[in-house]
Amino acid sequence: SASVFDVSVAPADALFGVLAAYRADPSPTKVDVSVGAYRDDNGKPWVLPVVRKVEAIISADPSVDHEYLPITGLPDFTAAAGKLVLGSDAAAISEDRVSSVQTISGTGANHLGALFLARHPPANKVGPTTVYISNPTWPNHKQIFSNVGIVLKEYPYFDPKTLGLDITGFLSTLESAEAGSIILLHACAHNPTGVDPTQDQWKQIAEVMIRKKLFPFFDCAYQGFASGDLDRDAWAVRYFLSLGLELLVCQSFAKNFGLYGERAGALHVVSSSKETSVAVKSQLAVLQRSEISNPPAYGARIVARVLNDPALFKEWTEDLKTMAGRIQVMRKVLYDKLIELKTPGSWNHIIDQIGMFSFTGLTPAQVAKITKDFHVYLTANGRISMAGLNSKNVEYFAKAVDSVVR
Ligand code: PMP
Repeated sequence: SASVFDVSVAPADALFGVLAAYRADPSPTKVDVSVGAYRDDNGKPWVLPVVRKVEAIISADPSVDHEYLPITGLPDFTAAAGKLVLGSDAAAISEDRVSSVQTISGTGANHLGALFLARHPPANKVGPTTVYISNPTWPNHKQIFSNVGIVLKEYPYFDPKTLGLDITGFLSTLESAEAGSIILLHACAHNPTGVDPTQDQWKQIAEVMIRKKLFPFFDCAYQGFASGDLDRDAWAVRYFLSLGLELLVCQSFAKNFGLYGERAGALHVVSSSKETSVAVKSQLAVLQRSEISNPPAYGARIVARVLNDPALFKEWTEDLKTMAGRIQVMRKVLYDKLIELKTPGSWNHIIDQIGMFSFTGLTPAQVAKITKDFHVYLTANGRISMAGLNSKNVEYFAKAVDSVVR
């Protein structure tokens, strides 16, 4: 019957659709390499030992209650989170030029950052507020920016011929971008390609961005998870900061703390002065109030306790090494198997790429075939989550890849 709602059915989310199909498949040999969540060598979700420990501490602490957090979040969390990504010795921190707000994980940080820039665009911009995103990127970036009315453009990123970075295309697009454009950069472990610029390439990117007056919007969802080293994974952000740039960083603790469902994250906006920073933070608080009022406490409490306690922090770095290390081992084992099988094509990218994901180079037709014939689930772009592989299924997976590319 007639409805006041003039709506049609939206297309299902590509990723969550694949996951649903995986769950519905009764095959005992099925493999899920779609979703970007860490799995242990038994294919099971892994609660970090340091998180288990802190959960016990928190639940035994009579001073913990369920009151609202402040609008901008738990101060012990936001301060420590800022130091973690920007560097504890960052001039921006000692000079009080960072406005940090706790957000609904990395997605919420991206949203709040985009909303803030839609309301307060870079002062030097020409034309409509525009963001350049990498081609390809995390698909949610598009909706997040278009939802707040920011114009989307793309910069070339992935070169399908080399399965590596298209630095020439990337730089030439930056050269032609309008002043004041927002440039979305993955701080490390680019999703979905697993291809990161080298430090030398980051320097070239920064040089053009300064000259062309482009605004850096860093999305940092994998610090410590990519290389196992928190400082190495934050290098690009800290390099840009060292050049004295104003910028913004979206930070997620979903992957590096395994706190996916707890939605612990932060947005850090670095300004050129303390006065501006105070104003920025007040405007972020206004936006936050109307959106979520105040952020969820539980995940932030866990992260804050770990980041502020040297002994727990050290345990966390060990847990990070466990996760990053297992993923690196899987890359190597998969690579070795494909070489052993003499699988057609070059597979160096499997070990050259970094972080949770690898762009395999499988075509949409090969993806459809590997799912149909082998019950291996991945998105049509050929991206696999390395975390879905383990010592029990990696050989099966390699043989399935071998079969569909022949
Ligand atoms: N940005 C990128 C590039 C991501 O890969 C992710 C996680 N898939 C996020 C942001 C945000 O994730 P979350 O909201 O779970 O922190």
